[in-house]
Amino acid sequence: MSGYSTDLLKMLRKAYLTIFFLSSLYIIFPWCLKIILRKRFLSAIKISKKVCLTFDDGPHPRSTPEILHLLKKANAKATFFVLGMNAEKYPHLMKRIIKAGHEIGEHSYRHTHPWKCSPGQSMRDHILGQQSLRIFADSNKQILFRPPFGKLNLIVCLYMFMHRRKPVFWNVNPKDYEQNSADMIFRHVKENLQPGAVILLHDGRHNDSHSSDVTTTVNALQLILQESKRSGLTLATVSDALTSSNPLVEDHLSAVELS
Ligand SMILES: [Zn+2]
Repeated sequence: MSGYSTDLLKMLRKAYLTIFFLSSLYIIFPWCLKIILRKRFLSAIKISKKVCLTFDDGPHPRSTPEILHLLKKANAKATFFVLGMNAEKYPHLMKRIIKAGHEIGEHSYRHTHPWKCSPGQSMRDHILGQQSLRIFADSNKQILFRPPFGKLNLIVCLYMFMHRRKPVFWNVNPKDYEQNSADMIFRHVKENLQPGAVILLHDGRHNDSHSSDVTTTVNALQLILQESKRSGLTLATVSDALTSSNPLVEDHLSAVELS
C-alpha cells in the first residue's frame, strides 16, 4: 500500500473515532443515563401506588380550560408541563392551572428536539423556558422537568443537574398527538391503567404540523377520569406521588437527584 493510502486511512480512522467520541458524549451517554433515570423515577411512582395524569405542550385556550373543568369535577390533580412560549402567550391560563392546585413543570421554551439541534440552541431553549416560568413557579419547591420528546443530550443533562430539575418520564403514551380518536386514546390508557401509571397527554401542540385536534384529548380525559374512579385509583400530581408517605420513595428521590 502506498504512503498516500496509509495516510488517508489514518485520517479516516481519526475522523471516525472523533465522530464516535463526540456523538457518544452528546447523545449516547445521555441516552444511557435516561434509561437509569426513567427506571428510578417510575419505580418511585409505582411505590406510591398513585396514578399521575400529565399534560404537555400547553397551555392552550381551547383545551386547557376544559381539562381544568373536568379535573375539578373529578376532584383530581394533575401535572402540566408547559412550554415557555405558550406560558407567555396565555398567562391567565397559567394562573388558572396553579389556582386550581395543579402542578406546573418545565418543558423548554419551543420544544427543540435535543438530538436535532446545536448545543447552543438546546441550552437557549431551556434557559428561555426557565425564565418564562419563573414568575409562576414556587421558588421553595424543586421544579419538575420533562425533556422535550423525552430525550436527553449532554446540554440537557448539564442543565438538569446544574438547576436541580427533577426529570419526569412516562409509561403510558396513548399518542393523542396523532390522528387517534378519543375512544382509541381511552382504550390504550384503560389497558395500562394501574397504580404507578404516568400517563402522557397533551393540552397543547408544539408544532402546527400536528393536525390532531386538542379537543380529542378532552373527550378522552372524560372517559379516563370515569374509569379511574370506577377502579378506585388515586390521581395525584407527580410531586405528591413522589413525596408520598412511603419512606422508600424518599430514598428513590434522593437517588434520582444525586444521579
Ligand atoms: Zn412535548
